[in-house]
Amino acid sequence: MQFIDLAKQQRLIKDKIDQRIQDVLAHGKYIMGPEIREMEAQLADYVGVKHCVSCASGTDALLMPLLAWGIGPGDAVFTTPFTFIATAEVIQLLGATPVFVDIDRTSYNIDPTLLDEAIETVIAEGKLKPKAIIPVDLFGLPADYPAIEAIAQKYDIKLLEDAAQGFGGQIGDKLACSFGDAASTSFFPAKPLGCYGDGGAIFTDDDDLYEKLVSIRVHGKGGDKYDNVRIGLNGRMDTLQAAIVLEKFQLFPNEVTLRNKVAKSYNEKLAGVVVTPSVPDGYLSSWAQYSILAKDAEDRQTIQSKLKAADIPSAIYYPKSLHQQTAFAHLGLGAGDFPVSEEMSQRIFSLPMYPYLEEQDIKTITEVLKS
Ligand SMILES: *Cc1c(COP(=O)(O)O)cnc(C)c1O
Repeated sequence: MQFIDLAKQQRLIKDKIDQRIQDVLAHGKYIMGPEIREMEAQLADYVGVKHCVSCASGTDALLMPLLAWGIGPGDAVFTTPFTFIATAEVIQLLGATPVFVDIDRTSYNIDPTLLDEAIETVIAEGKLKPKAIIPVDLFGLPADYPAIEAIAQKYDIKLLEDAAQGFGGQIGDKLACSFGDAASTSFFPAKPLGCYGDGGAIFTDDDDLYEKLVSIRVHGKGGDKYDNVRIGLNGRMDTLQAAIVLEKFQLFPNEVTLRNKVAKSYNEKLAGVVVTPSVPDGYLSSWAQYSILAKDAEDRQTIQSKLKAADIPSAIYYPKSLHQQTAFAHLGLGAGDFPVSEEMSQRIFSLPMYPYLEEQDIKTITEVLKS
């Protein structure tokens, strides 16, 4: 059994992927070829926003809007400590200061009440200027955007949705990647919509931001590539990767449904056995991960060993909160500062999750957990 089995998906579309690759080899436009625009148009349409700007990775998709907004030294950017390093890394990379805010203990997403308090504290201290919030749609579940959008408006600061894991999720009829001023996603192979390498995209309704992102993507280009009006990146996505996403995207809406079926089956079989994930009313998760809680770190170790003995892979997202990472030691934070995040990093672990996970496998996995 695999943690994420991408081969099953590939078998369904192998011929189409081969054809797409041959098409790119035939036209030879490896950089910014026609598949890039085609993919951007389809994804913007699906998400229901005006613009999609593809880029080289989910990390660049976070970095580029912050660059466009001129975020830098002296600025505070609020985010969760319970996420992948990239979310906070981009803040630090620009010389701004990540301000961590603890998570809600049922959604594992940033806690809006604590967020409001953290912004007030930064204002009262007067050392940093609150500039932006980056909530994360952890494991595929959208963060509490109704509450967070109100906070962003109250303080007049930018809101960037980190939907690297969240593409395909929903709140009501609004899709993930449509919240805030801009949203970022990743096409890393293991994400809900992946390519066969690195890739990412930014979504926005803001025309001015769109123009800046297009410029930043190619070294801050102005009229042309050799007219540089700002500092940017080589942030382009490969044409070949866009060609892959185009074919995988055909399967994607159905895959979100299949992932939700897998999650439902896990939930039913594991009710009362472990703490299963909870999805608030009106929310839809894209189930990047199916994560459950053990009683404590020791219990988790025991369960993971039993799974391993039965040839069932499992993984821990995330074993260490970002405020406890050496890379952020200069912030002077430590144990006890974000108790919920720290507790979850001791207890949480994820089970195999992909659209084509079979009912028989779910039975096998849950039987081991029940024993
Ligand atoms: C994967 C991930 C990223 C970074 O995406 P890459 O494409 O790997 O650069 C950013 N944020 C979160 C929450 C992620 O899971």
